[in-house]
Amino acid sequence: MARTKFVAGNWKMNTNKAAAVALAKGVADGAPKSGVEVGICPPFVYLDAVSAAIAGSPVLLGAQDVYFEKDGAFTGEVSLAMLKDLGVKFVLTGHSERRHVIKEPAELVAKKAQAIYDAGLTVVHCVGEKLEERDAGTTFAVCQKQIEELATSLTDAKRVVIAYEPVWAIGTGRTASDEQAQEVHAFIRDFMGKRWNKDFADAVRIQYGGSMKPDNAKGLLGQKDVDGGLIGGAALKADSFLAIAKAG
Ligand code: PGA
Repeated sequence: MARTKFVAGNWKMNTNKAAAVALAKGVADGAPKSGVEVGICPPFVYLDAVSAAIAGSPVLLGAQDVYFEKDGAFTGEVSLAMLKDLGVKFVLTGHSERRHVIKEPAELVAKKAQAIYDAGLTVVHCVGEKLEERDAGTTFAVCQKQIEELATSLTDAKRVVIAYEPVWAIGTGRTASDEQAQEVHAFIRDFMGKRWNKDFADAVRIQYGGSMKPDNAKGLLGQKDVDGGLIGGAALKADSFLAIAKAG
C-alpha cells in the first residue's frame, strides 16, 4: 500500500504575526508540489493571516487544537466551524503538551478527535510514552490505550493520521533511533489492523515526532512504517522544515 508521506509543522506557542506570515510564505514558496503532503499549524490567532499567505500553494493549513462543541457559551474556545471558515484541513489531538502540561484528560481528547472527523477534517492524533513508561516496558500499552481513544467508526483512512511522539524525544534534542521508531510504528499499525481492519491500518499514515531534524529525517522517514513527521522546533525555519519534508 503506497502511502503519501505527510510532514506537518507544529509551531506551538511561537512566532508573532509578521514572523508567522514570513515563515508561512517561505514554506509555501519551497513546498514540493507532489510526492509529499506538507502542512503547518500556526497559533490560532495567526491562522487567518497564514491562510492568506499560503493561498494557491500545496501547503495544508492545520490547527493545534479545537473544542468539540459546535458553538455557544465556551469562553476562550474555538470551534471546528471557525477553523473550517479559515481553510483549516487538519487538527492535532492528544499532543503530549496538552495531555501532560495542560492536563487534558483522555475523554476530552477522544471527543475532540471524533468532532474533527465528523466535521470532515483530518485528525492527527498524537500518542507516545513518557520516559518512565518506556523504562517500565509499557510503551506499547500506553500507545494502544491512546489509539483506543479513536472510535472504530472513524473509517476514512485518509482522514486519520497517527503521530507517534515519544514524550522523552519532544523538544529535548534526543530522537528515537530509526529502529525504536519503526518498532513502535509497526506495533501501532498491527494494533490498528486488529481494531479496525488490515486495509484501514495499511492506509493510515503514522508520523514520527520528537526532535526530528534535517540530519535525522532521512533515516527515520526511510523506515517502512514511518509515513511522515510532526515537527516542532525544526519547523520554525522554512529551510530546515522543507529539508525534512524533502528527505522522505
Ligand atoms: P520537536 O516537537 O520537534 O520540537 O521535538 C515535536 C512535537 O511536539 O510535535
